[in-house]
Amino acid sequence: MKNVTEYKNYIAGEWVRSRSGQTFENRNPADTDDIVGIFQKSTPGDVDDAIAAAKEAYKKWRLVPAPKRAEIIFRIAARLAKEKERFSRDMTREMGKILKETRGDVQEAIDMSFYMAGEGRRQFGQTTPSELPDKFMMSIRQPIGICGMITPWNFPMAIPSWKIMPALVCGNTVVIKPATDTPLSVYNFIKVMEEEGLAGGVVNIVTGSGKDVGEPLMRHKDIGVISFTGSTEVGRKVSEACASDFRHCHLEMGGKNCILVMDDANVELAVEGAIWGAFGTTGQRCTASSRLIVHKKVIKEFTEKLVERAKSLKVGNGLDESVEMGPAVNESQMQTVLKYMDIGKNKDGAKLLCGGGRLTGPGYDKGYFTMPTIFGEVTPNMTIFREEIFGSVTSITECNSFEEAIEIGNNTVYGLSSSIYTQDVNKAFAAMRDLCTGIFYVNAPTIGTEVHLPFGGTKETGNGHREAGTAALDVFSEWKTIYVDFSGKIQKTQIDS
Ligand code: NAD
Repeated sequence: MKNVTEYKNYIAGEWVRSRSGQTFENRNPADTDDIVGIFQKSTPGDVDDAIAAAKEAYKKWRLVPAPKRAEIIFRIAARLAKEKERFSRDMTREMGKILKETRGDVQEAIDMSFYMAGEGRRQFGQTTPSELPDKFMMSIRQPIGICGMITPWNFPMAIPSWKIMPALVCGNTVVIKPATDTPLSVYNFIKVMEEEGLAGGVVNIVTGSGKDVGEPLMRHKDIGVISFTGSTEVGRKVSEACASDFRHCHLEMGGKNCILVMDDANVELAVEGAIWGAFGTTGQRCTASSRLIVHKKVIKEFTEKLVERAKSLKVGNGLDESVEMGPAVNESQMQTVLKYMDIGKNKDGAKLLCGGGRLTGPGYDKGYFTMPTIFGEVTPNMTIFREEIFGSVTSITECNSFEEAIEIGNNTVYGLSSSIYTQDVNKAFAAMRDLCTGIFYVNAPTIGTEVHLPFGGTKETGNGHREAGTAALDVFSEWKTIYVDFSGKIQKTQIDS
């Protein structure tokens, strides 16, 4: 194999091979002849080594003043900005989404890094008067210790940044296991950290499978908090692994997000929103707009315009600037999407409006390309309405009223994101209150968060925590409440006061 780089694990500040001596290939899903890199097929022993390194590094890192930790994070952010184009191209090659979007992904890591660097001089606690004289009280954030991170492939640098940066600024050390499809983007991120002077052992990367790396990481007793983003199925296992000894776990999982299009909506705008929300990242977003709930008065116009736009989308290799939608991330993801297309057509009995299969022919034969697909006449009992597809498929469900739209919108086990298109401020506010999701948009699709507000979902999407914004600090720190009595005598709270 010529010119293919072998990437190593980063443990205790050294780039090392796996104890297994084995590697795996990372291939471009738009062109499977293109090998992006060779990565370590790591073992539970490698995870032990990384955790031991993080444990040792924690002794010093937790004592570095937070503003000094932040100076390194600022430098990392600035360096990411310089490398943005190279990292974006690497990302498109390793997971397929188009360049515009991978640039956005790297930008999100830049934004998050700058934002969390700012937290080096904030991390505000509370001071409050005591009920007793000559007594002072306050609360401060303390790091938790070693943070284990397990991340998915759809936001290969953004999601790791949402976890690593708040963890570091709070004084924790990190062991991260990237998704097997996207180790290069995490490698690029960690390499910048090394080059910008982060001490060895503060962040460690171990690549490999969920079974050989993710499982031992989440079960290890020295891990204080596991932060996981991925499927609800695996998230449940993480939760169970942490429950018996009460180790913290932070879970961001699946979604089945809805756009409500009301009869007073700007239909053109709603169509553009639905196209971006449903087919951006080839529909492989936890926030993808996979359920379009449309008022009967505008459903005909909305459907015709949406189908026309979907048919015109240019699908192909994301490195081509004119392409609007890339491939599925790998063969098994493509097969899952094709299976759901088949269920929609043959089992659910929904009406296939466009797409419905794999793209073949010149430009497509070496990749995992699926057609932008829309199903009409979808009802809440159908599988394609209920289950997360994570691909280029969306569905249209008719509603008769605003109240019915809300009811249909909430008819899901997930609770990540939702949106409404309406010109009526009363409907917008009522939907804001009544849709049971962690994120809500007015006159915008279900995707497109910013780093300085909380991100996460309700029901089977999350377990009550949030990433991003100051909420992220709550995942990676614990409150310590401190009382200082300078009266020189015993003072009994609730009794002497
Ligand atoms: P996944 O659950 O298959 O994998 C996520 C990570 O877990 C990967 O690193 C994987 O290797 C690891 N893993 C797999 N099995 C494991 C096991 N038994 N033990 C420990 N780790 C294991 O998910 P995916 O296919 O990478 O990503 C798609 C899913 O992620 C979708 O459900 C999507 O909605 C969800 N997601 C959620 C958010 C969010 O913030 N809510 C964001 C992005 C993706």
